[in-house]
Amino acid sequence: MYARPSMRVLVLGAGLAGLSAAVRAAREGASVLVVEGAGQVGGLASSIQVDGWWLDHGPHRFWSRDERTLAFARQMLGENIVESERRSRIVLLGRSFEYPLRPGDALSKLPARILARAIADWLLERARHWARPRPDANFEDWVVKRFGRTLHELFFGQYTEKAWGAPCSTISADWAAQRISQTGLLDAAASMLLPGRGAEQRSLAARFLYPKRGGIGALAQACATHLRELGGEIALEARVERVELHGGRARAIHARRADGGVERFDCDALISTIPLPRLLGALDDGTSGRNDAGASGLRHRAVRFVHLEVARPRLSPNHWIYLPEKHLAAHRATEFKNFSDHGLPVDRTAVCVEFTCAKDDALWSMPERELARLAESDLARIGLLEQGEARLLATQVLEHAYPIYDLGYKRRVDAALAIAKTVPNIRTTGRQGLHRYNNMDHSLAMGWHAAKGLANTLDATRPVREARADERVAAESRWFG
Ligand SMILES: Cc1cc2nc3c(=O)[nH]c(=O)nc-3n(C[C@H](O)[C@H](O)[C@H](O)COP(=O)(O)OP(=O)(O)OC[C@H]3O[C@@H](n4cnc5c(N)ncnc54)[C@H](O)[C@@H]3O)c2cc1C
Repeated sequence: MYARPSMRVLVLGAGLAGLSAAVRAAREGASVLVVEGAGQVGGLASSIQVDGWWLDHGPHRFWSRDERTLAFARQMLGENIVESERRSRIVLLGRSFEYPLRPGDALSKLPARILARAIADWLLERARHWARPRPDANFEDWVVKRFGRTLHELFFGQYTEKAWGAPCSTISADWAAQRISQTGLLDAAASMLLPGRGAEQRSLAARFLYPKRGGIGALAQACATHLRELGGEIALEARVERVELHGGRARAIHARRADGGVERFDCDALISTIPLPRLLGALDDGTSGRNDAGASGLRHRAVRFVHLEVARPRLSPNHWIYLPEKHLAAHRATEFKNFSDHGLPVDRTAVCVEFTCAKDDALWSMPERELARLAESDLARIGLLEQGEARLLATQVLEHAYPIYDLGYKRRVDAALAIAKTVPNIRTTGRQGLHRYNNMDHSLAMGWHAAKGLANTLDATRPVREARADERVAAESRWFG
């Protein structure tokens, strides 16, 4: 199976982290095989084609503050690229606000009573914090301290509780620190004090790249093509079930094929980007039995996506719209035509509606047609379309969409990583491999980093240091969604 008789590197998972790791290992001269459970590459950032539409898992805008990662994405996509500025909105109190919030827009639309309460709350929180600084106990605490309770309840609390299915007081403050940009506020202040400056900063933060054709999945497809040109290979529909350990090192993996058969692949080193509990559950030294994957306690929030077609040229000029209010079941709607309309029908549009859920709740098991009706009714309630106007294109589900940051997650991630690190020729990375809520560019950078120097050493003795660097890369993560 390996194309070259050099060091054999197995990469588990063909999402962006796995593909970038594979490309780097191949460029460094290793024989690389990527083993992917799904029928296509891209993981969370993959796309499917239905009736001429490219459908992604919700909105996927690509940008990076790291020039090398940006250059890598540009190199992969070549001419197949469009560059845009984000237009997103948040629908609240029957009004549509620009998101990130703009002071002029928010001031003119928020009812005076709420605005006055928001300012008073914010001042009160600042005074409290100044008089008696305290550490952030949880998500709610973090947001209230910085934005005040009124804005927390209005803009952050409702959305977060809907998306996570848990009270904000049970979610780690890390999630807020990683995902909520305070530059929105600073930018707002700058735009009021220094005309022009805020707008410039905002436009820089809002810029993004997207494939002209093929949906966001075109980025992973381009990485896969590049990998194959370098001699690397990809085995699709091969679900890793077991990692054979001998003498404390990973020697082979066993993968279940779509036809039910099991295939064994040898390796000298292994880079895993599959969910960390799944990797731990697969480690098998033949004596002590496998680790119980569930014992890690690391959990994910799932998302179901409903793709609808509507016979109108466009529903709105926005890329995506947040729906925080609890009377709506969905939490976000995305119109892909606004990301790129190359080669798409001119007289119709497609909209993706997202529902976060847990594996055992009603939304998870709701029949496809019923979920589509719910999606349509939510869009009708915010006035985006008329009931009965939409046609179901497809539904999709992501079981591992969002790593859950509950209050004890950090301790559990550290414990799980400590187990993975006992096997010196395994490096675990990427969003799933580190249980880290990060963006596409971070996954690319993490994979790239994990494969660094691998081909020059059969020893692969630096996993701890590499993982810490991965954490640093991911810590730059800043978007709300
Ligand atoms: C709804 C949503 C919207 C997002 N929007 C944005 C955005 O606007 N901008 C942005 O930058 N990022 C966004 N992201 C984040 C981005 O999608 C991810 O950070 C990135 O795609 C993760 O890549 P990865 O390779 O680390 O993980 P994944 O894409 O999850 O890759 C892991 C791979 O492992 C495979 N796998 C799992 N188990 C096995 C097994 N046992 N055997 C073999 N293979 C297995 C999976 O099939 C998958 O292909 C969004 C994510 C979601 C869920």
